[in-house]
Amino acid sequence: MSDTPSSGLCFGIKREHVPWYPVIDPALCTGCNACAEFCRHGVYAGGLDGKTVVARPFSCVIGCHRCDEVCPAGALTLPPKEMLTKLLASRPQCSCGGKC
Ligand code: SF4
Ligand code: SF4
Repeated sequence: MSDTPSSGLCFGIKREHVPWYPVIDPALCTGCNACAEFCRHGVYAGGLDGKTVVARPFSCVIGCHRCDEVCPAGALTLPPKEMLTKLLASRPQCSCGGKC
């Protein structure tokens, strides 16, 4: 799974360190491509077996859940938004006193 992050940092955390992207269950995916047609960020691509894959996970917009309901097979999963809250709470604090 290769990727070029869409942006460098998210709240001071490298995009590659934010595990926010869809996951496809290949056992359920029918390869209908509805997710790829829906997402404007190039996250999905066709796989070698005719199914769709998450080709560029870090191009997924952090916090976006929009494609969650486009999959007719229920094969797509995105993280719960609580994951972001926990991630932000756990990030290292900078010494600026909240000014940055
Ligand atoms: S959550 Fe949003 S940005 Fe991410 S793959 Fe789905 S539609 Fe694209
Ligand atoms: S919408 Fe669902 S079934 Fe269709 S290609 Fe995407 S993950 Fe597979």
